[in-house]
Amino acid sequence: MYLSKYFLPILKENPSEAQIASHRLMLRSGMIKQSSAGIYSWLPLGLKVLKKIENIIIEEQIAAGHIPILMPTIQPAELWKESKRLDDYGKEMLRFEDRHGRLMLYGPTNEELVTDIFRSYITSYKDLPKTLFHIQWKFRDEVRPRFGVMRGREFFMKDGYSFDVDKRSAIHAYNRHMISYLRTYERLGLKAIPMKADTGPIGGDYSHEFLVLANTGESQVFYDKEISNLSLGEQKIDYENYSNLESIVHKFTTPYARTDETHDIDLFEKIPEARRVEGRGIEVGQIFYFGTKYSESMGAKIDLANGKRIPIEMGSHGIGVSRLVGALIEANHDEQGIIWPASVSPFDAVIINLKQNDHLCNEISIKIYNMLKANGFDVLYDDRLDSVGAKFSSMDLIGIPKQIIVGPRGVSEGLLEIKFRNNGQRINIPLSNNLIELINELKK
Ligand code: ATP
Ligand code: MG
Repeated sequence: MYLSKYFLPILKENPSEAQIASHRLMLRSGMIKQSSAGIYSWLPLGLKVLKKIENIIIEEQIAAGHIPILMPTIQPAELWKESKRLDDYGKEMLRFEDRHGRLMLYGPTNEELVTDIFRSYITSYKDLPKTLFHIQWKFRDEVRPRFGVMRGREFFMKDGYSFDVDKRSAIHAYNRHMISYLRTYERLGLKAIPMKADTGPIGGDYSHEFLVLANTGESQVFYDKEISNLSLGEQKIDYENYSNLESIVHKFTTPYARTDETHDIDLFEKIPEARRVEGRGIEVGQIFYFGTKYSESMGAKIDLANGKRIPIEMGSHGIGVSRLVGALIEANHDEQGIIWPASVSPFDAVIINLKQNDHLCNEISIKIYNMLKANGFDVLYDDRLDSVGAKFSSMDLIGIPKQIIVGPRGVSEGLLEIKFRNNGQRINIPLSNNLIELINELKK
């Protein structure tokens, strides 16, 4: 993409409404534009990141055996009357009437809708287990929308719903979600810690929230330092294997890790003092096993082999996709701007032409651009006539991990420079005919 032809509305000034780094940087780098409180348009750069995160989530859900669908944003209120949640949801739910006077709502979540889909088709134990998921916009009329996309009113969420014949199989679905979520966060380059969550009237141990540590997080967190050393790494997961998943989940849920909602001071103080950590965190996901709560009230039942009819065991599992964009920036930025992890960066690399009017610099920049594109890289070419300083500062701001610098001096010596955004390190690369050295460096 030639920057002169792109739509990248970079702001020079710090927007006064932004209280935290991610909000400020998303506005400044032209990723989003607020349309009304807590509701945003996603501009090209922001959309690219959102889609990268979405794709990683989809890949990991499919790897875990979960099936993508797409449910609507608008739902009929009748379904929520059946589950008896229509009144409970209160003012957070945006309700309106259609032209026939039917009460409709903009979905804050999809348990009712998915249960209705399920009960319409699945009636036998033979068709279970199944997990259906989708990634769709949600609306919650939050009292205090703030921090940009972190607490929006309209936000993008992955929500998955598991349907199982019995509790054992439902807990296996829970474990699949726990592990596929951990893998997802690791691929995003984020450390997200599973913390025991409140299960409300349903009770039991089966809800965890995933928290990314950040000073600007809205949740107070308490944990045993041991848990932050755990990772899945490269290990291959066999999602069909009950005991294998159980042992991984056991490893991740044994050390103490809770938010203020579930914090237990007595338990916390049993951890050796040097290992006790208190801080702030951003909730980027939550998983929940709730048994027959919705299947019972909505009559979603299946026939067993022995002829008995029982309500389905269910769970729901969410990831805050748009909130993750903010969380990623909170975890990856410096004074100059964003520092994208390679897996979600809007571009693989940017070519910065230091002398736009120079014939040779132009020719070489274009050649590099075409070669990299032909090799499958998604490259931004900063071909603006701006000053070198302006180019450097805006490219540092948008945070693409590798900057390929083409300047008259280097070019005359047959050299290119790569600057790594994360540590500011610069290396020289020979300007060979096939650019193989550059291509190899970008593959790293
Ligand atoms: P919170 O406690 O932050 O209000 P929640 O527990 O009500 O969130 P869930 O119903 O668990 O949210 O939704 C799943 C995920 O969706 C959350 O873990 C979070 O990452 C994301 N999410 C929830 N509310 C918002 C919001 N207003 N803006 C952006 N993301 C949100
Ligand atoms: Mg939650």
